[in-house]
Amino acid sequence: MANVNANINNYSFKQISSGSDLSKRRLPYMNIQSKNPGPVLWLTGCMHGDEIGGTVVIQEIFTKLKTGLKKGVVNAFPLMNPFGFETTSRNISLSQEDLNRSFPGKNNGTFAERLSSMIFNLILETKPALVLDLHNDWTKSIPYVLLDSVGIEKNLVEKTDYFAQKTGLIRISDTELITTTLTYNLLKQGIPALTLELGESYTVNEKSIEMGCNVIWNTLNDLGMVDEHFNPFRYNIPEIYMDRILSYSPYPLASLSGIIRFLNQPGDLVKKGQRIAQIHNAFGKRIETIKALENGIILGIADYALSYPGAPIMAFGNIL
Ligand SMILES: [Zn+2]
Repeated sequence: MANVNANINNYSFKQISSGSDLSKRRLPYMNIQSKNPGPVLWLTGCMHGDEIGGTVVIQEIFTKLKTGLKKGVVNAFPLMNPFGFETTSRNISLSQEDLNRSFPGKNNGTFAERLSSMIFNLILETKPALVLDLHNDWTKSIPYVLLDSVGIEKNLVEKTDYFAQKTGLIRISDTELITTTLTYNLLKQGIPALTLELGESYTVNEKSIEMGCNVIWNTLNDLGMVDEHFNPFRYNIPEIYMDRILSYSPYPLASLSGIIRFLNQPGDLVKKGQRIAQIHNAFGKRIETIKALENGIILGIADYALSYPGAPIMAFGNIL
């Protein structure tokens, strides 16, 4: 019979700094371990202060794991950027730095580098089997899993893609080399790591939370860490978008200033050359038509109606 007290829960804090009023600034840390040895999984959330959905997913998962963890250890930093969270901003409000452009960090570096160094070293110490960094994309966006592939050894990309497939989400490969993210630096240490984009930022959408929990549960199940019969989650889209890694693209960008009128929504499948948005001037005259550059899927659309030369309009997962 399952012993409901078998798992040891530890919620605590890691000290970051002191406030000017001598208050303590701390990094919340969650840990749950089964008495049975097994893999170590890390979940990290709210790297960007306006992306709070991942934090809630972590809270829900830990509630389920109290009685549901069969083996191994799950660790989490549910709120890595409390400074940004408190000001509803992506960056660390004190230094205006992007925490996910500061890894692996330096303990005598900038504020973000000190915080990222602490996070990075605490994760490395535990020798994790997998790290899932939970993010939220544009306000109007669909969920997807992002794989670092540029600059990463092929074997490790394949190993990481195995985990990406198990999430049940569409897989998107980053096309730009960014060497300062958490996932890139973990991969450079040989640790599989994925970025999960779990729908909209700023708010908590219960549907996205449920889906995020299902994605994590797929992974826990694959690692043999939970013992529950369930239908694995799979994002509902034609197989052609699931059986391959799609290529991330923010192109085309707008060329003119005006008001964006979207002709498509996140999740729509588009064909190369298809009209996807129009730019209108102040009198309502159409001054630009934006067309898809490739066959693919729309991952998200811009939060703002404002267009200007070089403005991002949509993000795509392209079939190349
Ligand atoms: Zn983010």
